[in-house]
Amino acid sequence: MSIAESILSIHKELPPGVKLVAVSKFHPLEAIEEALAAGQTAFGENRPQEFEQKVKALEGRGVEWHFIGHLQTNKLKMVLPYACLVHSVDSARLLDAINDWGKKNGRVIPILLELHIAAEETKQGFCEEEILDILFRASSYTGVRFCGLMGMATNTDCEDDIRADFGRIKAFWDYLADLFPELSDWKELSIGMSGDWRIALEYGATIVRIGTAIFGPR
Ligand SMILES: *Cc1c(COP(=O)(O)O)cnc(C)c1O
Repeated sequence: MSIAESILSIHKELPPGVKLVAVSKFHPLEAIEEALAAGQTAFGENRPQEFEQKVKALEGRGVEWHFIGHLQTNKLKMVLPYACLVHSVDSARLLDAINDWGKKNGRVIPILLELHIAAEETKQGFCEEEILDILFRASSYTGVRFCGLMGMATNTDCEDDIRADFGRIKAFWDYLADLFPELSDWKELSIGMSGDWRIALEYGATIVRIGTAIFGPR
């Protein structure tokens, strides 16, 4: 399937209100151009330098850029001026730095908190207690807007394990929405990648981040 065909076929399966973020990391501008021509407007990148280069190369083309990767605090200015959503806030230190940057620049940066749900130790993210601790102090973070959670399921063929991971993040996301009704932007659950996005839809994904199934292998 071509890039355009893949995008159209995914969009056909997505329920209304679920956003497709096409993950274009490692792929050239021409691939993004092809996706744009097929009507895809939201793209995700995971490396600050590549993110900024692509943003600048496609300025004025109506692209909505999502940052989905690990972000070091010394690279904020490559990302925060341009990102419509930072999915991957994975430490208190990073959160504080983004909050400070937002305040200093007169901006409120939309973010998701990354919950560590996978079995792999290597994947980034907060545990539940850390997120609770942050959200109890949410009103003190005036430079960010808490928009929801992001998570990556265990990389496995075992569907039960993936379901357990997504079930856990969905339940926690609901719990937080009940506990903190004052968080009026708490609307996004960013789960699901090429191998598991159809399962993620069953667990209430509002954003799916799909790379390989659109652009091919990296
Ligand atoms: C690369 C990446 C994706 C897309 O992965 P695919 O398996 O290629 O769809 C999604 N989310 C994050 C955080 C990524 O780094």
